[in-house]
Amino acid sequence: MALLAVHGGAGGDGPWGGPTPMDPPRLACMEALLSDLGPRLDDGSLSALEAVRLAVMAMEDEGGFNAGVGSVLDETGAVSMDASIMRGEDGAAGAVVGVRRIQNPIDTAHGLLQGGWPLMLCAEGAEAFAAKQGQRLIDPETLVTDLRRAQWRKWRDASLRPGATDEDDAALDHDLGDEIDGPGTVGAVALDAHGRLAAATSTGGMTGKPVGRVGDTPVIGAGTWADERVAVSCTGVGEAYLRACAAHEVGVGMRADRADLRTVCDHVLDLVEPYGGRGGLIAVSADGDVVLPFRVTLMYRGVWRNGAVTTAIGPDV
Ligand code: ASP
Repeated sequence: MALLAVHGGAGGDGPWGGPTPMDPPRLACMEALLSDLGPRLDDGSLSALEAVRLAVMAMEDEGGFNAGVGSVLDETGAVSMDASIMRGEDGAAGAVVGVRRIQNPIDTAHGLLQGGWPLMLCAEGAEAFAAKQGQRLIDPETLVTDLRRAQWRKWRDASLRPGATDEDDAALDHDLGDEIDGPGTVGAVALDAHGRLAAATSTGGMTGKPVGRVGDTPVIGAGTWADERVAVSCTGVGEAYLRACAAHEVGVGMRADRADLRTVCDHVLDLVEPYGGRGGLIAVSADGDVVLPFRVTLMYRGVWRNGAVTTAIGPDV
């Protein structure tokens, strides 16, 4: 039984106000990729690793998400992006940190996974690797959207503390007002027809982050994890997910006899919460369970299972 789940970031305080005019293209992006990749996972023509790479690339290319084009801006008003990918059956992984001139950071992370060594490259080193792989390096300004520019001005004018990580100041982009609301980080987890698992996550980070700040997204075991039992992609205040080694904790929890995926993931969000870890995660297990828990107002999310696609933004009803 194959499964594919994706998220497009989590955030917000208080009750959900319903979809914004920006949401239809985000949902359409998730629906299109799930409808395309799900059947290919199911008929065995696509591996879990390929599915999560392609799913995240599709969301990096949709300007409404905070990854690739549409990434949020750091304290200087510039884009810098993080991404990671992991294959469950052998623990192979790749990650990039603080890249600016790459259209699809997850593709570079995937190239590192395939190369086998090194696992993680940052900034210019990652960009040079991408160029060697045949990726065209781009002008980072082409990744900046009007939405993110407006959001960054609002962040600057409100004098929010850069890189704030506690609950009140966290500059998760969803919290900055409905009229310029924008969702976050993107991620995917997959189980293929051969029972293999993979996970991938990609982000522009947090609005107003200090130059050089690294969140959980590119750190294997914090934002992304896959082994032979479970695949996980996290979204939320990265510092908290880092401190809790959140994604890996799901893997640890699933080693127990008769472990239940929902119970394990809820426990991990309990671990993250005291650190100010507002957000959520998605996880799929080798025995065909999928969960998408979150502890904030909304999480953009979607699942392909048994030939059917479902997507949602606000709380489950
Ligand atoms: N976890 C991401 C980071 O801290 C942000 C997010 O998921 O919204 O960079």
